[in-house]
Amino acid sequence: MPGSTNIDLASFLENGDIPDDLPTPARRLAHHSGAVVMWATRMFTHELRHDLSNVPCMGTRQRRPCLAYLLVGFEDGLVYWSCESCGLWGRISNWEQTVFDRRLDP
Ligand SMILES: [Zn+2]
Repeated sequence: MPGSTNIDLASFLENGDIPDDLPTPARRLAHHSGAVVMWATRMFTHELRHDLSNVPCMGTRQRRPCLAYLLVGFEDGLVYWSCESCGLWGRISNWEQTVFDRRLDP
C-alpha cells in the first residue's frame, strides 16, 4: 500500500531556508514540500480547493520514478498533495511565513 508523508516544513528550515548541510533525503523532501507549498500558495486564494499542479510525484511505480503531477490543495490549514498514479499522498504543516509561502507576492 502506498504510504503517506506528513511534514512539518518549518522543522527542516534554518533561518527560514533549507540548510546546505541537511542530509540529502531530508533536503529532497524539504525541496519537494517547498515546491508544493509554492504552487499551492500561488494558485489558491481560497481554502478547500485542489487542482493538478506542476509538481512531479516523488514516489515510485513498478520501481521507476512515478513523476506524475500531484493534486494539491488546502485542508484545515494544511497543504495536502496526492498522486492519482501511485497513490502516495501527504500533508504539509507549518508552511506559513516560510520562503515557500507565496501568498503575499504581487
Ligand atoms: Zn505518484
